[in-house]
Amino acid sequence: MVIQLYRSIKKMKNKTTKIMILVLSTALFGCAQNAKEKELQTFINNHVEKVKPLSKEANLAYWDAAISGKEEDYDKVSELTLEIRQIYSNAKDFAMLKEMKESCDVKDTILARQLDILYNGFLENQIEPELLKEIVELSTDIEKNFSTFRGTIDGEKVTDNEIKEILKTETDSAKREKAWLASKQVGPVVADDLIKLVKLRNKAAQKLGYENFHTLSLTTAEQDVNELDEIFDELYELTNEPFAKLKAELDGILAEDFNVITAQLMPWHYHDPFFQETPLVYDVDLDSYYEDKDVKELAMSFYAGIGLPVDSIIANSDLYEKEGKNPHAFCTDIDRKGDVRILCNLKNNETWMETMLHELGHAVYDKKHNPEMPYLLRQPAHIFTTEAIAMFFGRLSRNPAWMQQMLELTDDQRAEIEKVSDKYAQLKQLIFARWAMVMYSFEKQLYENPDQDLNKLWWQTVEKYQFVKCPPNRNTPDWAAKIHFTIAPVYYHNYLLGELFASQLHNHLVHKILKLKSSKNVSYVDQKKVGDFLIKEVFEPGALYHWNMMIKQATGEPLMPKYFVAEFVN
Ligand SMILES: [Zn+2]
Repeated sequence: MVIQLYRSIKKMKNKTTKIMILVLSTALFGCAQNAKEKELQTFINNHVEKVKPLSKEANLAYWDAAISGKEEDYDKVSELTLEIRQIYSNAKDFAMLKEMKESCDVKDTILARQLDILYNGFLENQIEPELLKEIVELSTDIEKNFSTFRGTIDGEKVTDNEIKEILKTETDSAKREKAWLASKQVGPVVADDLIKLVKLRNKAAQKLGYENFHTLSLTTAEQDVNELDEIFDELYELTNEPFAKLKAELDGILAEDFNVITAQLMPWHYHDPFFQETPLVYDVDLDSYYEDKDVKELAMSFYAGIGLPVDSIIANSDLYEKEGKNPHAFCTDIDRKGDVRILCNLKNNETWMETMLHELGHAVYDKKHNPEMPYLLRQPAHIFTTEAIAMFFGRLSRNPAWMQQMLELTDDQRAEIEKVSDKYAQLKQLIFARWAMVMYSFEKQLYENPDQDLNKLWWQTVEKYQFVKCPPNRNTPDWAAKIHFTIAPVYYHNYLLGELFASQLHNHLVHKILKLKSSKNVSYVDQKKVGDFLIKEVFEPGALYHWNMMIKQATGEPLMPKYFVAEFVN
């Protein structure tokens, strides 16, 4: 049905679609609904009446917990989350929604869209209580193992941070090897349980008629495995040669740093346990440009300049470090009615400039949903589309043109930044893209057949995408050391899709909205057209359309990797 709705709209021209939606939305309030539509409308009204106050309460509780760090506040969050989950696990309601979806009697586009969203929300919660309990307990156990396990170097326990520090700074290959091995020691500790968890998740999915948990998860997230395969395959082809070239260059530098020949480079010669981050060899210290500035003021003035003022968001937010407070950053839409907040721990440096721009990107998306739209549609089109907006703005903290204008830098200072910033951005994106391919491809095969030789599969996948060699005779569950397979299953691909959409938006804004010839030197500073475009094409529609429909309407094309490639692969 999701696909049906998407396809039937896809055929129409953009304008017609918008007029149709407009007509249909008046139909929703004015004209007659058929019996099924009336029944659905009543169900939605009742459902929203229950979920709306609970979600608000849960969001507020989470906000309080993140600031106080108190156990009892976190308990309240779990209680409320469970209460909401119970609403979505109601089997009778699900059966009704399923029947309604299959009947195709709901013709009204806006109602049908809400039906899709409800159906997916219920579908992912239709797991028998016994099985669900088993799954939750096992994944909590594994998570606990992760948080309490400490790898050892020469018999001495080391923390993750100590391992990371060694991989960033140590020049002795033997010491690096030990640190890398320590980072993988958690693998054998959790692997058997993780395989058991994968099988339990598969069992739950199969009871609902899906091949495996991977397929079920993608379905409830309105993603199609073939569509994703196509995007990932294309990106693999397009980045293959450029990545090989950059990687060879990088290997040359690393080999010299560690006094080995490139053929001797091993996984521990990269600067993090999975080679998912850019080794520091090209990095440039941008913090000095921010240290005497105020990143909050910079962000506020930038967003105001593009027509997306954030004063009311900032007024509700919590921006600075406090005892007990969550040390990271996030954005939350408390009520889908304008109470949008961000949590940060600001310092005047480049990392926090990026984070501030990133979180405010999420925030303006939430803030600018159309208040006339039904509650269920007042949310981003997809988790990765809001991530894309956040990334799109976050990228500016290292953009030389943006930095020059916002930080009032001289041409010399800007030239200094430009020397390394392009190269760094390119490396960062390529390394991350190839790593995300490993995660996507491996996880898909993990759920397809958890009984295969996973250790071998992992290294085959790493060698194929990252060109990193498996250490001789290694047969250990190194894949299980990645916590995401446990705590955030079938999610990783969204990070990469976010990057792709951010680049596609960038290309569209530069060429079609600002009508510039090149994306070089584009800072977006004071370009009100940027805000106008995003409000109209991305923020206001919310979840009214399937994500790919929204992207197609906004940029003229469905999501595709070519703009990411054009931006970061020469
Ligand atoms: Zn984010």
